[in-house]
Amino acid sequence: MPKDRSELPPVEELLTAAVTGLGGVERPGQVKMAQAVGDAIESEEHLAVQAGTGTGKSLAYLVPAIRHAAESGDAVVVSTATIALQRQLVDRDLPRLADALESLLPHRPEFAILKGRRNYLCRHKMAAGMPEDEDDQLFDPREVSATGRMVQRIQDWANETETGDRDEIVPGVSDQAWRQFSVTARECLGAQRCPSGADCFAELARERAGEADVVVTNHALLAIDAMEDFAVLPEHDVVVVDEAHELVDRVTSVVTGELSESTVSLAVRRAGRLIEQGVADRLQEAGEDLRALLAVAPPGRVDALPQSLGMTLALVRDAAFACITALGPRNKDKDDPENAGLRKAAFTALDEVHDTAQRMLDAFGPAAGGDGAGDDAEDMDSGDSRDSANSGGGANGGGTDARSEEVHRAEVVWLEEGRGRVPPTLRVAPLSVGGMLRDKLFGDRTVVLTSATLALGGTFDSLSRQWGLRAGEWTGLDVGSPFDHPRRGILYVATHLPQPGRDGLPEAYVDEIAELIEAAGGRTLGLFSSMRAAKAATEALRERLDVPLLCQGDDSTSQLVKQFAGDPATCLFGTLSLWQGVDVPGPSLTLVIIDRIPFPRPDDPLASARQRHVAATGGNGFMAVAATHAALLLAQGAGRLLRSMDDRGVVAVLDPRLATARYSGFLLNSLPPFWRTTDPAKVRDALRRLTADA
Ligand code: SF4
Repeated sequence: MPKDRSELPPVEELLTAAVTGLGGVERPGQVKMAQAVGDAIESEEHLAVQAGTGTGKSLAYLVPAIRHAAESGDAVVVSTATIALQRQLVDRDLPRLADALESLLPHRPEFAILKGRRNYLCRHKMAAGMPEDEDDQLFDPREVSATGRMVQRIQDWANETETGDRDEIVPGVSDQAWRQFSVTARECLGAQRCPSGADCFAELARERAGEADVVVTNHALLAIDAMEDFAVLPEHDVVVVDEAHELVDRVTSVVTGELSESTVSLAVRRAGRLIEQGVADRLQEAGEDLRALLAVAPPGRVDALPQSLGMTLALVRDAAFACITALGPRNKDKDDPENAGLRKAAFTALDEVHDTAQRMLDAFGPAAGGDGAGDDAEDMDSGDSRDSANSGGGANGGGTDARSEEVHRAEVVWLEEGRGRVPPTLRVAPLSVGGMLRDKLFGDRTVVLTSATLALGGTFDSLSRQWGLRAGEWTGLDVGSPFDHPRRGILYVATHLPQPGRDGLPEAYVDEIAELIEAAGGRTLGLFSSMRAAKAATEALRERLDVPLLCQGDDSTSQLVKQFAGDPATCLFGTLSLWQGVDVPGPSLTLVIIDRIPFPRPDDPLASARQRHVAATGGNGFMAVAATHAALLLAQGAGRLLRSMDDRGVVAVLDPRLATARYSGFLLNSLPPFWRTTDPAKVRDALRRLTADA
């Protein structure tokens, strides 16, 4: 074991020790990536690495990360998009790596996982120091008893848990039940003031993270740490963002604001017991106005602020402000420790309502923030204040002026339809998070971004633009894949089929899917662009085929994937989460069928606004937004096929536009280099041969 940091072995030597220790074989792509990550850390230059499945990319970044932590004494943060990858790193890769590298480093590498505060049990709230957040919707007795049972389970578990981490509760509990025992970072009293601060689970997790060499977290917490003015992650100067193709979406979610009757009612419930009834009633009434307005408004993007909505938002904002004022000085808690939790919770909910209403008004320019909307804005329920992304912007309620204003607007507001117990909800999100990422995330640390899918259309440009990185500020590296794609996989585009229509799955597609599945003897993962198409295909084919057909939603996704992997004859159909979340090596997955190019829906409010913004500023909105989105998902979907060196099979894309449209080159260049064909007979023959060999 080296005595000091200057004796540390180079990255290459550590990687060899790690690979040997883990019983693997060194791969050229892995060595190249580890060297590049080591160099990026050394030179403090951002790096984007595309590393195909099978590269062993987690070792390729963990080894230089651990070396840097040992050398600098600072932690390296590793951020992932999914819990599955977090678990893989913490439960499998890091413990084995620590064993393998211990003898070569000054100390055994330590690691920890750190999640957002709301993932940990709050002892203070548990001791009933804060209000219950149950709402009227819980009056359904079935909901009450289901939530009640979960609450009981949480209470039993709370007596035993050592970490307070929600993910330990098996089976999981609903957000509604968990909310009774957890707080957000803003609601937390702070360990110094909290009576339970000394035993706080979230604080203990932070302490452990503060002593670790590698801290594993998620993109949301990484974004909060970078953007808020309080630190949630330990001091660090290097971040590795794995599953980096998800970064922009996850960060956008963190900074999306929402306003509905529920968020207003929550603020009223929390404030109501602490302030004069009349002041709380005013907010309650404003919330009811909002509910009535949203109930009749058409869902979708709000391009021009209708007068009625402008007035209601201003009413909500002002009523929330009156409640905040009525609560008194924020530092009053020192003299009133009993009510500190209640007051903090009330302030948080009221601030949220006030700030979001103001943010929505600001999204329409300075005129909207005063007494209401501009004089010439149309009424919200006139029904024509929004359009679809493909219409070229013609039906915008504000006409040309609104369109040109939108070019300068930084945020998008839209109304989401109510579903079940969730009421219609207004949301607001930035057109781009690039500037934010550039200033806050990339500003003062070295960032390594990696994924199997980063180079779209053959370059990193699309994603680096979304991250806010400029030429010269980063380098890109594609270390390829150890898989022999041209020999082991076929990309088949069904050019003889009609283009997909708007009205469900064409009959010819169902016939094509049936023939392909018969040739493959089952073994098929069907990736559909909508749940409706997945269900329609399942229904139609269950009658025609005698192989077991599973459809997403029949059971939990993990259970379905398990069943699919366990029986080669079984097929699994589904939508978005299967495009990225299925890892089934071996003959159970020989055919991936993709029904259509996965463009964003034309009525997707953010994508359509982003597309129009790019077009209005002189760029190609379709290529920058819709084609980039589709390329990323297509590459992820096609990436389900080869998961181990021995895998072979076919990716069949039924949408002929992949071979014929003007943008097809960009999409094809985003996919692995499979052997390509448009001949259905050749593909069926190949599938029969593969099935016979399996
Ligand atoms: S410090 Fe915050 S999270 Fe921890 S117990 Fe207190 S209020 Fe809860």
